[in-house]
Amino acid sequence: MKQIKGNRISIRYKLLGNFAIFIICTVLFMWLFQIIFLDDFYKLTKVNEIESTADLIIRNIENEELDELLSTLAQNRQICMRIIDTKRGTTVDVDASIQDCLIHKGTVISSAKYYELALENNGTYLDIIDVKNVVPPNFIGRWEAPTDNQTMIYSKVVTTDNTELLLLLNTSISPVDATVNTLKIQLQVLSVLLVLLGSILAFLMYNSISRPIMKINEQAKKLALGNYTVDFQREGYKEVSELADTLSYASTELSKVEKLRQELIANISHDLRTPLTMIGGYAEAMRDLPGENTAENCQIIIDEVNRLNVLVSDVLDISKLQSGNQQLELEEYDLTESILNTLERFNKFVSRDGYTIDFKYQEHVYIKADELRISQVIYNLINNALTYTGEDKYILINQLVIGEYVRIEVIDHGIGISQENLMYIWDRYYKANDPHRRAVNGTGLGLSIVKNILELHNTYEENTARYGVESMEGEGSTFYFEYRILDMN
Ligand code: ADP
Repeated sequence: MKQIKGNRISIRYKLLGNFAIFIICTVLFMWLFQIIFLDDFYKLTKVNEIESTADLIIRNIENEELDELLSTLAQNRQICMRIIDTKRGTTVDVDASIQDCLIHKGTVISSAKYYELALENNGTYLDIIDVKNVVPPNFIGRWEAPTDNQTMIYSKVVTTDNTELLLLLNTSISPVDATVNTLKIQLQVLSVLLVLLGSILAFLMYNSISRPIMKINEQAKKLALGNYTVDFQREGYKEVSELADTLSYASTELSKVEKLRQELIANISHDLRTPLTMIGGYAEAMRDLPGENTAENCQIIIDEVNRLNVLVSDVLDISKLQSGNQQLELEEYDLTESILNTLERFNKFVSRDGYTIDFKYQEHVYIKADELRISQVIYNLINNALTYTGEDKYILINQLVIGEYVRIEVIDHGIGISQENLMYIWDRYYKANDPHRRAVNGTGLGLSIVKNILELHNTYEENTARYGVESMEGEGSTFYFEYRILDMN
């Protein structure tokens, strides 16, 4: 079987691969952000916090409720504050009692130094200090526990209308090592869980997508080899079930086509064999027996050849009509005139064999249709009437105008059709009457062609053509079709 080139990775491996990539990326990002960059992130957040606190204080420096704001900020954000009026020498202190405060607990650092540093650096200076480096040994006693911690000092010089302020803020930086260790363990557990979860998910998806698709594929291969009985099971997701349904539908349609094809071949070969045997038989007799070389025998051969011709063109017509490739050439024309022309074709036959065909009409009626095809409909109906008419050899064609439709009736007084056969006569190769009679005259395709032509007209304009038959066994038949009259206004 021919394989399509291109992406040949199985959906199973693709799914597993994608899940693996997803899990590796997730774990990697978590390690990066939680472990490697955690310290940097934490410090960055602290810097942002201390800067925004300083901005808030400066904006509210004249505010009457400054004291309240300062103590709220100090408590909420764990920041110690000292605001020094450098001109007047006054100081406002807000002690948040943070663990590693350097501006309150004995005032380890020099405000003057940070004042200088701020001035040198455009008015602000941020310092991160290792506590143990700056706390002198004689201060240790005042500290609860001298640590390896770091502390952040932010200094800012602000000039107002009448004075100059030095803002000193201090917040402690907790070591992240302990946190990192906890996170590491958590991440290890999480990674294992993610791998497990990912594998379960991948397996579940494989079960509901990939497996049904692979099954369907196996069945479709059988279908391609001509096994139309394959069963496409509906399982998995909606789309996959729909695919199974579509393929099941395709396989039933294909089996129908296959059945029709076999039927057609059987019928055609049967119908071809009869005239060919006749032609062969008569030709041989004429060659071998001198007395048989008569004009009548020649006529039989000619008749059989004509029958073969009709059969072949009927088969071609029906296959064209049923394949859906037939295009109609719609035109506006005089239907009455067209029927008169068709009748002329029967003249010879009629006068030779003593048939009478009457055509009754009140007026000329115009329709929009494929004239050639509609003539074929009329021709086939008259032909049948001639074949199955009774002793009177009389056929009446009646044109009636009923509302916006014209009705053409082809009436004979022949053998008629039994009620149980009525619904089947429009089918291909349906033989309702005496098979002997049909073997001589018909192909079994005439009414099927009539039906297909009229229904094809309906696909161009809905409900434009209708057809039917009224018949009683032994009392003749009235075959009719109705067509929408062209509005000439
Ligand atoms: P056929 O070539 O056998 O006439 P048709 O498709 O034209 O094929 O007709 C199908 C069957 O319908 C015929 O075999 C015949 O039994 C029946 N039938 C058609 N027209 C008439 C009619 N005017 N009177 C009686 N039976 C008819």
